[in-house]
Amino acid sequence: MTSWHYVYRVKSTLRLPFTGGRHILEAQPQPTTRGCLLPFDSNRVWVAGEDQSLHETCGVIGVYAPGLDVAQAAFYGLYALQHRGQESAGIATATGERIHCYTNMGLVSQAFRESDLQRLEGHIAIGHTRYSTTGSTHIRNAQPLLARSDGLELALAHNGNVINAQELRAELAEQGFSFASSTDSEVIAQLLAYAPGLGWAEKVGYLMRRLQGAYSLTVLTKDTLLGIRDPRGVRPLCLGRLNGGWIIASESCALDHLGGQYLRDVEPGETIVIDRDGLRSIPYPGERPKAAPCIFEHIYFARPDSLLEGKLTYLTRQEMGRQLAREHPVEADLVMGVPDSATAAAVGYAQESRIPYTEGLVKNRYVGRTFIQPDQRIRDLGVRLKFNPLPEVIGGKRVVVVDDSIVRGTTTPQVVGLLRKAGATEVHMRVCAPPIRYPCHFGVDMASKRELIAANMSLEEIRRFIGADSLGYLSVEGLLKTAGGEQGKTFCAACFTGQYPIPVQLEMDKLALERP
Ligand code: SF4
Repeated sequence: MTSWHYVYRVKSTLRLPFTGGRHILEAQPQPTTRGCLLPFDSNRVWVAGEDQSLHETCGVIGVYAPGLDVAQAAFYGLYALQHRGQESAGIATATGERIHCYTNMGLVSQAFRESDLQRLEGHIAIGHTRYSTTGSTHIRNAQPLLARSDGLELALAHNGNVINAQELRAELAEQGFSFASSTDSEVIAQLLAYAPGLGWAEKVGYLMRRLQGAYSLTVLTKDTLLGIRDPRGVRPLCLGRLNGGWIIASESCALDHLGGQYLRDVEPGETIVIDRDGLRSIPYPGERPKAAPCIFEHIYFARPDSLLEGKLTYLTRQEMGRQLAREHPVEADLVMGVPDSATAAAVGYAQESRIPYTEGLVKNRYVGRTFIQPDQRIRDLGVRLKFNPLPEVIGGKRVVVVDDSIVRGTTTPQVVGLLRKAGATEVHMRVCAPPIRYPCHFGVDMASKRELIAANMSLEEIRRFIGADSLGYLSVEGLLKTAGGEQGKTFCAACFTGQYPIPVQLEMDKLALERP
């Protein structure tokens, strides 16, 4: 693997119309000694049957805790957030005088050695685990990203997707900015570093006025930690205490693993500033748009042991399963989930329908990304590499199988086929999400509209395609109700409804920022 430390050199000094005179600095990735096995942006190979579902977005963490080894805390926090991104990981720390940053490709456990963490000194840390939603899989796109203006040096970790990044980048490039990565996150970092204003309220206010889209950020300067959530709160971000200090993370499971205490979610549009004077909250400047947190966090992305808006995700999913049973009852002998993400919903379906719950598929938890090209025989095994059915449990039974969602529909027929081969006499597919008909523009690498099965087939066509005896999707109303709509909460559900909380162009391209 190749790992990188960043050094900066002054590239030019320009007068910028919106900020006054600034030094422009260019990040120069410097390869360190760990040898590169393969170029990461070519010849990527994925195990057949593995990569057909939705991709999580990214995970971010921030720790302000004098007296604690914050690099290690960030490392274990990222470890808990690994499900949100597996391509690269990085940590930046601040000592009060200096910022250190280290990024590497791969899983969190592969990306850092103990000696890497030891070099990350300080009492403030931010960390990032990445799945690319803009920019290709390359070390230069790994985060945290660094930016520096005359008066401000910062490191930034971003979860989400900024939909006007291309225009902002073009505007900045025209003013003389150069970019070291092809991500929207670097546009955010540059904008914040050069934002006009004296204090954080003015700088972040400026940032929020310029950005459109989804961004949950952790940012550090030499002496300050910030947590910033976009005005609609599309991606999650929560706040807690850790060892007398503070912790900010994409999900509360990161706090739990570190022995921290969850306090609350960061509000949409809120900025948390933590420095030697303690914590202060800066509310959204002006009238805040309607909150639109991603409903898919509740269905699939977030870990079941995470709290979203104070509610345990496992319980929300169970309630969704109950609602699914009310909307799509069927006579059957067993209820099972597609492991692991649909387990809670399957338990809920079983409770409501009073059909016994069982496990019918065992998941190989260690199937992941690989650079080994599968030959045709292995390719044909498809989903079998991931799941092994239990014929003694499901043989001769009418089975309800609950899944969290169907995206392209490529693995679902294989799951149904596995169950039939294992002896199930009937297979009734129940999906704990409505049909996905529209792509996501806010940080989830879903698929284009032409790849989404529900955008191109009727429900009966999908049922026949997947080979199930019956098919039932959770309704949009049922989904929103169970996630908190009854308490007046509002959500983004655009991939089901096509009603985006922010106007978007029809098809965005995650590699758009790499084109000249
Ligand atoms: S479009 Fe779907 S996946 Fe994307 S933010 Fe909205 S609900 Fe979440």
